[in-house]
Amino acid sequence: MIYRKYGNTGIKLSQLGFGAMRLPDDDEEAVRILRAAVDGGINYIDTAYGYNQSERRVGLALQDGYRDRVFLSTKNPLPDMSLDGWKQRLEESLRRLQTDHIDFYNVIHSMSYDACENFLVKNKALDMILDYKRQGVIRHVVYSTHDTPENVKKCIDTGFFEGMTIQYNLLNRSYADPIAYAHEKGMGVVIMGPVGGGTLGAANSAFKNKLGKSYASTPELAIRFVLANPNVTVALSGMGNMDMVTENLRTASRPDPLSEEELKAVDTAVEELKALEKLYCTGCRYCMPCPNGVDIPGNFANFNRYRVYGALQQAKQHYGWLRHTNEHKKDNSAGACIQCGACMKKCPQKIDIIGQLKEVHRTLGAE
Ligand code: SF4
Ligand code: SF4
Repeated sequence: MIYRKYGNTGIKLSQLGFGAMRLPDDDEEAVRILRAAVDGGINYIDTAYGYNQSERRVGLALQDGYRDRVFLSTKNPLPDMSLDGWKQRLEESLRRLQTDHIDFYNVIHSMSYDACENFLVKNKALDMILDYKRQGVIRHVVYSTHDTPENVKKCIDTGFFEGMTIQYNLLNRSYADPIAYAHEKGMGVVIMGPVGGGTLGAANSAFKNKLGKSYASTPELAIRFVLANPNVTVALSGMGNMDMVTENLRTASRPDPLSEEELKAVDTAVEELKALEKLYCTGCRYCMPCPNGVDIPGNFANFNRYRVYGALQQAKQHYGWLRHTNEHKKDNSAGACIQCGACMKKCPQKIDIIGQLKEVHRTLGAE
């Protein structure tokens, strides 16, 4: 395993972190793979208050001396501006994780600059957080975010934080600038989504053809791509089974970063794949809204996970989320299309929307 400095904290973290959002739904197996990862050199585990059962399972794995071998990160969601609610969630996380401190506390999960201003500054939550830091309950104050790159830079400029957790992968590099900026300011940078939410989780002939012999698998390439960025401290991978742990440990132990030549080959493959995605649907949304609630570009973008990137299981999982068949949300999936035809005339690409939606449902909707 290779270790990297986390900003100005003096801490060195394994360049591969364990994202605990996809742990198996079985306590024993979850403990087994988490401990195998730590035994293999991973010393950074990331979870969140909102990941179902994850904190509790991480807490179980960190018994028997494992707690002292890792730096633990978790996140506090902010459903409202209540200081008491925030404290209760912190205390609940400590209880589930069976620990008295959090090493890297994402004080707001998916923080926007507005939430930073309103909760931390105007609502004086920062005073409370710094108090927890003085007591040693929170060791390092960090945040995770999906805000715009401009707003992420504004969050960095507050000077409140020692690090951040943010998305970056070979298909989406929109945060490359704020990542470099954070690094320059002495912050640690943890990357979530290196495999693009599963899009880069399957074998892909475009990468294979362009990289030739140096291509082993797309997940390996995706992680190596993230680690080739010197401004990154840790690439998180959401590992759900022992094979993933073994493969990722092997990848993160490679001393050779992606070469300039390999990076160029990756860029050419990405250009081709993006062009293919657009061929199926540009995402312009002229066809929206659908009177029956179908998220037309959303269904096509998800179908591309399979059609362009070969990731069938991931596409099926996301299709399940589009269905939202409960009393709170409408079914947004292709299966909800009643073939009224209202969208067809609006598509500048003249896509056979009804026919394509049928294919999406046939491929991804089967149980
Ligand atoms: S044809 Fe289907 S997707 Fe298009 S507007 Fe009608 S219900 Fe919606
Ligand atoms: S109008 Fe056509 S290209 Fe644009 S989002 Fe709808 S289906 Fe895609």
